[in-house]
Amino acid sequence: MRELLPLCHNSIVRVLYCTSESAPIFKIGGLGDVAGSLPKALRSLGVDIRVAMPFYDDINTQTLTIPQNPGITLKLCFGSEKRWERVDIFKANSAVPMYLFANRRYLYSYPIGSSAHYSKLVERFVFFSEAIVTWLSDISLQTGEWFPDIIHLNDWHTSLVAMLIRLHQKERRLAQVIPTLLTIHNLSYRGLQAHGLIEETEHLRSEFADKREKKHLDTLKLGIRASTRINTVSSRYAKEILTAEYGGGLNRLLGKRRGRLSGILNGIDYDVWNPRSDRLIKYRLQRGNDHPERSRMDYSLFKRQNKFYLQRSVGLPPHPDVPLFAFIGRIEPQQKGIDILIHALEDLLPQGGLQIVILGTGEAIWEDRVHKLASLHKSLLTFSDRFDEQLAHQIYAGADFILIPSKYEPCGLVQMIAMRYATIPIVRRTGGLADTVVDGKTGIVFDAYSAKTLGEAVRRGFALYFDNKALVKMRGEIVKQDFSWDRSAKEYLAVYRRILEIKN
Ligand code: ADP
Repeated sequence: MRELLPLCHNSIVRVLYCTSESAPIFKIGGLGDVAGSLPKALRSLGVDIRVAMPFYDDINTQTLTIPQNPGITLKLCFGSEKRWERVDIFKANSAVPMYLFANRRYLYSYPIGSSAHYSKLVERFVFFSEAIVTWLSDISLQTGEWFPDIIHLNDWHTSLVAMLIRLHQKERRLAQVIPTLLTIHNLSYRGLQAHGLIEETEHLRSEFADKREKKHLDTLKLGIRASTRINTVSSRYAKEILTAEYGGGLNRLLGKRRGRLSGILNGIDYDVWNPRSDRLIKYRLQRGNDHPERSRMDYSLFKRQNKFYLQRSVGLPPHPDVPLFAFIGRIEPQQKGIDILIHALEDLLPQGGLQIVILGTGEAIWEDRVHKLASLHKSLLTFSDRFDEQLAHQIYAGADFILIPSKYEPCGLVQMIAMRYATIPIVRRTGGLADTVVDGKTGIVFDAYSAKTLGEAVRRGFALYFDNKALVKMRGEIVKQDFSWDRSAKEYLAVYRRILEIKN
């Protein structure tokens, strides 16, 4: 049976990065962006990192070379009927090697939407986690196979792997516990499942879950308990989740593990989000002009052209002198602040003089409210209720301001992407938004979670827009910000090294 070897400081670290999504192959939100870019950045630092993800039917295969036949096939006993399931693992080549897990019953699609879908989703990711650990246990008996020193887990979808690894080790299917890093991108999504799955995961409860949890499964909680280290995606959120307000009932458990908890700010993929080379926008920024005056003119032209194009394509009157505000994200009030946004707009829109573009999907009742508002103010507000990567790029390029009125925000990528395209963020002071936007210098920051304070912040944006000198200055400042992965990837590598010192 394979023993994990102690690593000296300079040896190559092998990491299995487990995720439910990874851009551009499959993306639902920010986790997809991160999983598509952080492994690339770590690979360029010399980390031998590989990604494990389900092989959904509708993945985008453009950037992948997938072999005809699976390199690995495993059998897994799963479900209340204890059915034997076959999992085919395809080793695909792309910027980062990927292991795509295929199974017709559990892993063929990512159901999005209603709560009925949600329980299916939990079942699928429990299955995926079991498949990952079964595969690792199988290959741990074989020499010459690639084997990770660390498993990097992301959110509730794969957090259970940390616990399953410990169980497999107890059952002597693994010689040693493979150390794990759990990244919490959002503490509010937990992987909860009442009954049903519990019978299947009987062995989970017996050893590690406490008595009160016998009634339901909570994959994130089990992951927090069992992983070697934990990190969140900004320093401020790492502190916030230790409080009752943001901790969602897990703050005490996280408090006990605070010595193993840290915050590492996400980066964005500078190859994808690049106004100079972005193929999804109409007008690209002039290539490399270091002269400050020339550069300012280039950005002004870039914004003007893309704003005109955006206004035309979403059906707003193409006025160059009306400030254009945008919102991109889930249409829900629990996190993204759609309730205060709607209330603020109800107050602002009758006064006119501004335009709003909203792109997002979410809860039907909130989508309806946005549609109603848009039909009342046709020439001022448009709402695209879909997931549309191209339109998102065009909004980043064409809007003057991006609104992010989140109740909480673990990191938030929207503000970083927007800044790359010289779009000024208007954000609430929370989580990663507070860590990345400086009020009056790189954006507008407001404190209280209310329509009134958001409305005041929009009015500040309005005033800024008509003060050309200040507007140009702030644009100049935000495009200078560095949100590339360079710094954060190094911080992840440092955490990997610490983990290998701790071991488990
Ligand atoms: P979260 O992960 O909570 O959704 P983030 O700010 O971390 O929020 O990341 C959101 C990502 O998803 C960004 O890349 C954003 O552009 C993208 N996005 C969100 N909604 C849509 C949409 N409807 N169409 C296209 N892209 C979207």
